[in-house]
Order: sequence, then C-alpha cells, then structure tokens
Amino acid sequence: MTGDAVDQQFEQHVSRGTRDADEARRAALIDSIPATDESTPLAAQLAADARRRIDLAGRRFPRPQSTRILTVANQKGGVGKTTTTVNLAAALAQAGLNVLVIDNDPQGNASTALGIEHHSGTPSIYEVLVEDEELAAVVQQSSAIPRLWCAPATIDLSGAEIELVSLVARENRLRIAIDAYLEACEAEGRERFDYVLIDCPPSLGLLTVNAFVAAREVLIPIQCEYYALEGLSQLLKNVQLIKNHLNPSLHVSTIVLTMYDARTNLAHQVADEVRGHFPDQTLRTSVPRSVRISEAPSYGQTVMTYDPGSTGALAYLAAAREIAERGSAPLSEKES
Ligand code: ADP
Ligand code: MG
Repeated sequence: MTGDAVDQQFEQHVSRGTRDADEARRAALIDSIPATDESTPLAAQLAADARRRIDLAGRRFPRPQSTRILTVANQKGGVGKTTTTVNLAAALAQAGLNVLVIDNDPQGNASTALGIEHHSGTPSIYEVLVEDEELAAVVQQSSAIPRLWCAPATIDLSGAEIELVSLVARENRLRIAIDAYLEACEAEGRERFDYVLIDCPPSLGLLTVNAFVAAREVLIPIQCEYYALEGLSQLLKNVQLIKNHLNPSLHVSTIVLTMYDARTNLAHQVADEVRGHFPDQTLRTSVPRSVRISEAPSYGQTVMTYDPGSTGALAYLAAAREIAERGSAPLSEKES
C-alpha cells in the first residue's frame, strides 16, 4: 500500500471512530432525559424537543450524488408551501449543503422570508423566465445563512403567466435557465448546489408547469385539515400529465404534513389517511402549528435563525434530515 493510501485509510478510520463516538455521546444524552407520560403534555413536548436538539445539533447531512431539484407545489393557498420551502432550505444549508431557492410565486413570500431584496425593479425570476436573463444575474446570497442563495420574485412576475403563453419553449424556460446555471457554476469550478427548491404559486398555471418541468422531484405540503385531500388527486393528475408529456423523470418524492395539531382527532385522521395512501413519500416528521414559525417572516428570517431551538425549527431540521438521508429514489405510489 502506498503512503497516501495508508494515510487515507487511517483518516477514514479516525473519522469513523469520531463519528461513532459522537453518535454514542448523543445516544447517552438522549437516554438521560427522563421519560414523561401523556398526563403532562408540556413536559412531554419539552423532553421531545430536548431529544431532537441533542440528536440534530451541529449534524452535517449527506450530500446527494448530484443536484436534487424539488418543486414545492400544492394548488391550495396557505398550506405551508413557502414556509416549508424556506425553512427546509435554511435547515439543509445550516447542515453544510449548498442550497438555491427559486421564488416562483409573484407574491414573493419566499424572498421576504429569506430577507432577500425584491422590490419592483430588482433583477428577478421574471427577467429569467420572460426576458432570457441568466439566473447568475439575479441570484442573491443570504446574509444570515451563507450557503443559501435565492432567485427572488418581484411583483412583475404576476404578468408572466400571460406573457409566457406567446413565448417559445414556454414550459421549458425555467429548466433551461437552471440547467445553464448549474453547468456554468461547474465550469467556473464553484462548489456544486446540492439542492434547488422551487416555491410555487397556488395554481396549476404556466409558472407551476415550468417548475414541474425543471424538477425531478415534487414535494407536497399538506395541511392536516378537513379539505386536505381534496384537490390532491388533481395535483397528482397534473404531475402525471407533465411526466407523460414533458418530463419523464418527474415524481412525487416527498409529502410533508404541516400545521399539525396533535391534540385534534381530525389531524390524526388526515395524517393516517395521507400515510395510508403515500406510506413511502410521507415524512415521519410532521411540522406542528407554531407561533414562532409564523412570526419569523415578519423579521425577514426563517425560523431556523429566528428561534433555532423552538419546536417548529427542530421539526423542520428533522424533516430536512429525513429528506437528505432518504435520497431521491422514485417511490411507489398507491393510487387512491
Ligand atoms: P402557502 O405558501 O402554501 O400559501 P404559507 O407557507 O405562506 O403557505 O403559509 C400560510 C400561512 O400559514 C402563513 O401566514 C404562515 O406563516 C403560516 N404557517 C405556515 N406554517 C405554519 C406552522 N407550522 N405554524 C404556524 N403557522 C404556519
Ligand atoms: Mg406561498
């Protein structure tokens, strides 16, 4: 064996040893937290948070083999698309991965939540989609989380839905822009993006179609309420149409239950139903309803920096870890 190979093997051995020691330390700390029962929900929540904090603090997530592009979609408004996009992106970036968020919603909520400039006139995803501008010219780096980048949306994007209709390759414009940008980054020797997350408007129009064509994976946030599953079959039908005609590799890889209130029977019923239909796609971690999550955007922050120890931030961190560790393998889909 050459000296280099010995060094390499030694380094691997040491890093495995350090990793094992770290896991053992985390496990021992988690075990030391006293068990609580259902009669004291607040104590149980605090203990669950403490376990999660110990398990996740400072953990680095595995890098995917190639850039994973996920479209966060649900044609319902207010189900947590934007909140899920920005907080997962922040969590992945804090865990050492390079993440690009594409704000593809004229409301620009993702840009706001990430503290990214997006007043009218700021170079934005509108210029990319409609005026053939390069993504590189509009992407901004987050000041709070250095590995996080965002292509903002301005109010101009509200006209894009109509303007796109008459343009060539109208369904492919975002895909072409993202592919060119990723290639340019590689050619310049920049570190690769590990994740691209695309936040969609609450509709199934051309902006969402562009996002479906650009991505390999669809991530669907579902709010655990009575009408949650209504509209889901329409969304799945659209994904199937895009898959058949425009993007054969598109699949629903991930479902996240959001604004989950564990105290209500309805939330349990909806969650059971979603897991019954999509056992492989639905994350084990559901995101609870949390005041801290809803406050964060008004400070131009994600909850990951606004209150990293809160229940909501820990839930998004746990969800991000699941996504990173499961990889992007296409999964079976039981039709309802
Ligand atoms: P969408 O992008 O699907 O329209 P948003 O992410 O903007 O949905 O969420 C809708 C509203 O619900 C926002 O005001 C947001 O702050 C709030 N919200 C989202 N997730 C949570 C949560 N887990 N707990 C409390 N409020 C939430
Ligand atoms: Mg939104």
